[in-house]
Amino acid sequence: MIPMVNLKAQYAEIKDEIEQGLAETIENCTFILGPNVQAFEQETAKYLGAKHVIGVASGTDALHLALLAEGIGAGDEVITTAFTFIATAEAIKYVGATPVFVDIDPKSFNICPEAIAKAITPKTKAVIPVHLFGQPADIDKIAKICADHNLKLIEDCAQSFGARINGKQTGTFGDVGAFSFFPSKNLGAFGDGGLVVTNSDESAAKIKRFRNHGSDVRYYHDVIGYNSRLDEMQAVILRAKLKRIDQYNQGRRRVAHLYSALLATNPAVTTPFEDGIGEHVYHQYTLLSDRRDHVMKALQDNQIACAVYYPVPLHQQNVFKDECKNVSLPITESVAANCFSLPICPYLDDASIKKIVDVINSAD
Ligand SMILES: *Cc1c(COP(=O)(O)O)cnc(C)c1O
Repeated sequence: MIPMVNLKAQYAEIKDEIEQGLAETIENCTFILGPNVQAFEQETAKYLGAKHVIGVASGTDALHLALLAEGIGAGDEVITTAFTFIATAEAIKYVGATPVFVDIDPKSFNICPEAIAKAITPKTKAVIPVHLFGQPADIDKIAKICADHNLKLIEDCAQSFGARINGKQTGTFGDVGAFSFFPSKNLGAFGDGGLVVTNSDESAAKIKRFRNHGSDVRYYHDVIGYNSRLDEMQAVILRAKLKRIDQYNQGRRRVAHLYSALLATNPAVTTPFEDGIGEHVYHQYTLLSDRRDHVMKALQDNQIACAVYYPVPLHQQNVFKDECKNVSLPITESVAANCFSLPICPYLDDASIKKIVDVINSAD
């Protein structure tokens, strides 16, 4: 079986380092906001080129706390994409605001800046672009729209750790960036974890307070907060992987480029489009095919994993379909109906890639 992502091969390379770090944490009993969380925050701040980074319990919490820190709440509208994981919109609902879904670019699958501009109303307070599948969204255009209309810009970087635009990391363009360390993400923990990034001293202070029960000084509470700290054990694992993240992302790009070269002559599939806005770090390798189900069945019959991210856009999910009954997003709907993703990770060897491509090319 070829899995979507080979986490076992990655673990084998860094096992000693991780086991040593975990053993030390257990010996020292420094379980909550200990030295590894602190060190990881410093190391990611340096890596990302951000003034403040705050480790939190998940990517969903990172988005939630970011919205709270930016003062988004009841009555506010937040423009985002419907072609994403549900968490992007859940966080908007948590603060009492309304997600306004707009359409995507048909080639990059990222949110369309022109569609954002058209959806702005007097109630719009923020925009959340997602750097989907690891490809940076058109952040310069989006940032300009936000600046012109005085909107907060919160980047959902759950799938784009390490992706750069002209050398600058995703997550550092807007007011706040939110990252996820879900195990299968480009930088993945061995459980849940997340990170909020900001250059604002004020936002950073708020996020730190929110993640730790509304408290700056132990047992003194200024606001109602949450228990949303990055776990110390996860920080040990993340530190080991952070050192190698550029190598991991280069490995993903190698796999993607070989797939695209070998699939280029197959008229039944459209390979991912790199729009050149930034460097695609291929969290997913996602194709389009109007014979998707047929191709996926051939892959499954040959013990090759494949998946659809995402089969149902958010405006058509049960949870949103009443409030979105007048929303029509033709490009999003068409992409969701035709997209599918192949296994991708730095450990996928050329022979496996060729085998996968052979199965696709001979599925007729
Ligand atoms: C994974 C993901 C999240 C949520 O992250 P969790 O760590 O699982 O809470 C949010 N947005 C996007 C686009 C994601 O892919």
